[in-house]
Amino acid sequence: MKLTRPRRDILNLYEKIDHPLNAEEIYNLLNNEYDLSTIYRNLNFFEKENILKSIVFSDKITYYYKPKGHYHFIYCIKCKKFERLNLCFEKQFKEYIEKNIDFKITDHILYFEGICSECQKEGDKNA
Ligand SMILES: [Zn+2]
Ligand SMILES: [Zn+2]
Repeated sequence: MKLTRPRRDILNLYEKIDHPLNAEEIYNLLNNEYDLSTIYRNLNFFEKENILKSIVFSDKITYYYKPKGHYHFIYCIKCKKFERLNLCFEKQFKEYIEKNIDFKITDHILYFEGICSECQKEGDKNA
């Protein structure tokens, strides 16, 4: 892989930030140094190379994350913040799926959408 400057800068961000990012956030975090189409092009490249994975939530924004280790997301649909969830149900799911469906599991993605505690407080105030 040719490590061009935008590629290196994007990967550096993921060394520091532990949660998924969308193209616009990357654009801002890199102080608008590259245009959005450059960011998109490189994110696509990283995904093809299996360096980043992408995930789309119900708001249709694509987020990219580094598939290091194994983790789950809690995603707030109001403020669009992520939290890490260090809890995995893989064993139970695996046993069920492999017993009941002839299917070999290689990976799984699990996330929950909802409203975080901060946004719940906001909602209470407005009500
Ligand atoms: Zn929130
Ligand atoms: Zn898991």
